[in-house]
Amino acid sequence: MRMDWSELKASVAACVACPLHAKRNKAVFGVGDEKADWLFVGEGPGADEDALGEPFVGQAGKLLDAMLAAIHLKRGSNVYIANIVKCRPPGNRNPEPEEALACEPYLHRQIELLQPRLIVALGKVAAVNLLAREASVASLRGKLHEYRGIPLVVTYHPAYLLRSLHDKAKAWTDLCFAVDVMRGLQSRESANI
Ligand code: URA
Ligand code: SF4
Repeated sequence: MRMDWSELKASVAACVACPLHAKRNKAVFGVGDEKADWLFVGEGPGADEDALGEPFVGQAGKLLDAMLAAIHLKRGSNVYIANIVKCRPPGNRNPEPEEALACEPYLHRQIELLQPRLIVALGKVAAVNLLAREASVASLRGKLHEYRGIPLVVTYHPAYLLRSLHDKAKAWTDLCFAVDVMRGLQSRESANI
């Protein structure tokens, strides 16, 4: 995997490495600023994303955009958004571990090319796959983790928050934690210069 962005996009669009390719309309590569400090990782495309080829464009996406706005971020500007699997799991089921594993080299290469300062894992599927261990969001949130040396924080998936309004306050706490972590990373870097 030494591909550049355009080679990587072309191979995802043509990928048949797992059964999810069979029913996709569009593979959903990822979207945003290819030099972003922030990387948000979701689970996989839903129906709207599969139709449009862009992550988080349905109801959950609207909430994600609101979450970004709450911390003064905007899709496409210093933010990149991607998913664990690039093709829609039928009926919006969770991706199978083998599907996530088959797709992992793409996200890994995206992360190598992006070199984000901080990764925010949205929900359990993103967290468990990136951290390569089973755990609940409740037990992972509020702590600093890492993915191959890159700082990573965990919060609830926006689709979950749409169903569980009482956890929205916790997601806000997590976003504030992420902003604090980012500030710390930025000030450490400027101190080194
Ligand atoms: N949910 C996800 O995890 N990703 C999307 O792109 C859309 C909904
Ligand atoms: Fe390939 Fe990933 Fe789509 Fe599976 S989900 S076919 S590994 S791009």
